[in-house]
Amino acid sequence: MFTERLLDWFDTHKRDLPWRGETDPYRIWISEVILQQTRVVQGMDYYRRFLETFPTCAALAAAPEAEVLKVWQGLGYYSRARNLHAAARQIVADHGGTFPSDYPSIRNLKGVGDYTAAAIASIAFGLPYPAVDGNVLRFVARYQGIFDNIAAPATRKLVETTCQKWIPNDRPGDFNQAMMEMGAMVCTPKNPSCTACPFASACYAFQHQQVEQLPVKQKTITVKNRYFHYLIFLHNDQTILQRRAENDIWRELYEFPLVEIDGEQFDIVNYLNDNKIEYTEEPCQVWQTQHQLTHRRIFAYFYVVSVKCLPPLSEHQQIVPVSRLRDFAVAKVTERALQRVFQQ
Ligand code: SF4
Repeated sequence: MFTERLLDWFDTHKRDLPWRGETDPYRIWISEVILQQTRVVQGMDYYRRFLETFPTCAALAAAPEAEVLKVWQGLGYYSRARNLHAAARQIVADHGGTFPSDYPSIRNLKGVGDYTAAAIASIAFGLPYPAVDGNVLRFVARYQGIFDNIAAPATRKLVETTCQKWIPNDRPGDFNQAMMEMGAMVCTPKNPSCTACPFASACYAFQHQQVEQLPVKQKTITVKNRYFHYLIFLHNDQTILQRRAENDIWRELYEFPLVEIDGEQFDIVNYLNDNKIEYTEEPCQVWQTQHQLTHRRIFAYFYVVSVKCLPPLSEHQQIVPVSRLRDFAVAKVTERALQRVFQQ
C-alpha cells in the first residue's frame, strides 16, 4: 500500500532532472555525489560540466587531480572530488574500467558510503537496497512517528530496516528516488506540504499534530574559530600563490600567502618589518569575510601589499601573474576575494 502510493505519486510528480531515467552507473554516481551537500539547481550545471569534461570513468581516472578540483571549484567539500577521482582510478585498476555491479564492490569504492552505494545499486542495477539520506530520514521519522535522534546510527538502521520492507524488487531505483523526492519536495524540513501529501491520512506526525516536533535531531558539533590573514603581494602585476597542506581544510587548493593567528588583530606592518619585506605603499586590508564549515568558522582577512620585490618563496609557493589567478583551483573564500579585489 505504502509502496504503491509512493510510486503512483512519483510517476505523476517527479521533477524532470538531467539524471532522471539514467541507467549508466558512472553518471548516476556523479549525480549522487554532486547532490550531497549541494542544492539541485546548483548541482545541475556542475553535473553537465563534469560529464562534459570527464565523460567516462576512464577519462576521470586519467585526469590530473588539479583538473578535477578545478571543475569542482565552487561546490565545496572538495574531498568529494578527490574521492571520485581516486575511486575512478580504483575502478580502472581493479575492475578493468567497468563500473562494479554488485553492492559490496560498489560500497568498497573510495568515498562511497551506504547511501551512495544503495542509490547506484538500485538505480543502475535494479538491486533492492534502500538509500537513506537526510530527506528519507525526515520523511520516515514523521510518517512512522519515530522520536529517536535521527543523527544516531541506530535510528538510521531502524529507518533502513523499515525501507527494506517497503522497497519493491521490480522498481527499487524508482522507490529510492521517490523517497528522496518526497523528502525534498513534500515532506520538507520547514513548512511541509501536508495538505497536498498523499500520505497525510496515515502519517503519524500529521495525525498527531507533531509535524513540528519531528524529526528529532541532536547533534553536538564543536565549532572552532580560525583566523586567516591573507597577504596579496603585488609587484609588476605579479603575486604569490601557495598550495595548501595535505592535512588541513581545503587540502591542496591554492591561496595567497597566509598568516594564521589566534585572533582578528593582526599588525601587518610589524609582520612585514619583522620579515624584512619592503613595501612601496602603506599595506591595507581590502576585504574580510566569514566562512562556515562543519567544524570550523573561518574569519578571513585580505591585505594588499605592494612591494619593491616579491618576498622569497617558501615550499609550495609560486609567483603567478595576476591575469592567471583564475587558472588555479581555490576555495570559495579566495574565489570571492578574487572577484572583490581583482574583479576576476
Ligand atoms: S503528512 Fe506532512 S509530515 Fe506527514 S509525510 Fe506528509 S508531508 Fe510529511
